[in-house]
Amino acid sequence: ELGFFDGEFIDLNEKKISLEDRGYQFGDGIYEATKVYNGKCFALDRHLDRCIRSLRELKIPVTYTNAELTAIHEDIIKKSGITDGCIYFQITRTTAPRTHYFPDKIVPHLSMTIREGSVHTDWQKSGVHAIFTEDIRWLRCDIKTINLLGNVLAKQEAHEKNCQEAVQVRKGSNLVTEGSSSNFFVVKDDIVWTHPLSNLILKGVTRSILFEECAKKLGITMIEKAFSPDFALTAHEAFITSTSLEVTPVIAIDNKHIGNGLPGKITLKLLNAYHELVKKECY
Ligand code: PMP
Repeated sequence: ELGFFDGEFIDLNEKKISLEDRGYQFGDGIYEATKVYNGKCFALDRHLDRCIRSLRELKIPVTYTNAELTAIHEDIIKKSGITDGCIYFQITRTTAPRTHYFPDKIVPHLSMTIREGSVHTDWQKSGVHAIFTEDIRWLRCDIKTINLLGNVLAKQEAHEKNCQEAVQVRKGSNLVTEGSSSNFFVVKDDIVWTHPLSNLILKGVTRSILFEECAKKLGITMIEKAFSPDFALTAHEAFITSTSLEVTPVIAIDNKHIGNGLPGKITLKLLNAYHELVKKECY
């Protein structure tokens, strides 16, 4: 099983990481997860741009160029022989004796793994079940940090209720933000709604591609406007997006059907347009 750490390819189980890596002790780092189709990384540039932004927001020095990161991605795909799967990479601030403030000398660590696996086409066909849960995360959800405890607890709650995703709701405003590992959308009267970009959600690469490419091409109106759980339950369709799930219909939340309880027409059109883009870029 292939991994990559600070410039060399290693076996995944080879011990390489210091106990004092700030990634371990503080969750002080960022990550990206990309999807490999037919031996090619889809939308890698968008992921790398977000990675650089996350680093800058956390004041972690940017010690790799996009070209270098692209080359490492290409190398790990080639070396692994994997044609369809996921690449995970993370950059942690540095290794240093534990202090909350940043140490003087900073040498970020880059690690990467690649795993075989294809998309959950069964979920795309049947749709998934979700729950609503309180969004207890910090107020910089726009940064893709490796601190994911709020997301982990939300997903676990969904899992324990035999659901595939947890749709998070901010207390106070009672507005839906996003899934635990996806962006969330509803369709009402042929208009697609999703939470606007802000500190409360991640700017998903898949979300951006839907806005900039798929919806535009299909002439579908998408608006960035937050809504309540009740509004979502009265929608005609709902779906989630992420790199690994692409566009996946949500057919029920808290055991209440959305629309007629089947994957929606507009949802499937968007999924189709997304697949066409993947085909164009990777095949
Ligand atoms: N929101 C959260 C909280 C996520 O973890 C993810 C998955 N990385 C997304 C949204 C979707 O982002 P993307 O489309 O870039 O995979």
